[in-house]
Amino acid sequence: MTNQPAPPLTGFGSTIVKIAIVMLAVEILIMLGFFWLGISPFDWKLALVDAVLLAIVVAFIAYFGFIRPKDRQILAAIDALAEATLDAEALARIDALTGVLGRRSLLEALDLEVERAERYGRNLSCIMLDLDNFKVFNDTYGHQFGDEVLQLIAQVIATHCRAIDHLGRYGGEEFLILLPETPLESAILFAERVRSAVAETPLGESRERVTLSLGVAEWHEGERSAHQLISRADRALLEAKAAGRNRTISSRAT
Ligand code: GH3
Ligand code: MG
Ligand code: MG
Repeated sequence: MTNQPAPPLTGFGSTIVKIAIVMLAVEILIMLGFFWLGISPFDWKLALVDAVLLAIVVAFIAYFGFIRPKDRQILAAIDALAEATLDAEALARIDALTGVLGRRSLLEALDLEVERAERYGRNLSCIMLDLDNFKVFNDTYGHQFGDEVLQLIAQVIATHCRAIDHLGRYGGEEFLILLPETPLESAILFAERVRSAVAETPLGESRERVTLSLGVAEWHEGERSAHQLISRADRALLEAKAAGRNRTISSRAT
């Protein structure tokens, strides 16, 4: 690697240097003022006044005197970028198609809920559910209508959830529901309510219905990882598929 000389400061960098020079000049003026008035600059109250004065003067001069219109554009762009980053983060937390939680937030919620259940000895259940034969549905009615159905089903499931539950899209046509304060038996009843509601939901103008297969699992004290809970719910879901779909199967800890 060759040692390139540092490029001269231009643009925004030189503006910052100018601001630093102004700060130094203002500080010297304030100190001279103290000296002229016979005040010790080491008095902490005056040091505070000094700092505030300096900040006001420099902010004023810097903004109106030294920041060129082009640099103001850079500052505005930095602000806009920071806001856009926050928006993108919020979007990543929510599934763009259905409006329920995205996978990342779902897994974060799972870790928190497992920690809470373990620490306070509370019940926690989890339901993994998947639309039945959705590929055939997509192939028959088209992907666009498939998307609308996914949105509708997410809404139907959401209307059955309590405020403390976490509903999210785990994968393509697979959803996960975390049910805090809920023992296995209640979670199975809840899963069955959701299953019937979805099976009875008319899909747009069509006479079609979609059904769900659901796997339910309850967290057990001492279970090593939060993901064990999901994998038990997932196994129960596979059993429900194998047993003929449109049903709920529950799993006990192994
Ligand atoms: P099974 O009952 O075994 O779950 O059968 P399936 O056809 O539902 O399962 P499979 O995994 O074979 O297919 C899932 C289908 O879900 C395939 C894919 O086209 C569809 N799908 C996944 N994500 C989306 C999506 O965002 N929009 C739409 N329209 N379809 C999706
Ligand atoms: Mg499916
Ligand atoms: Mg699937």
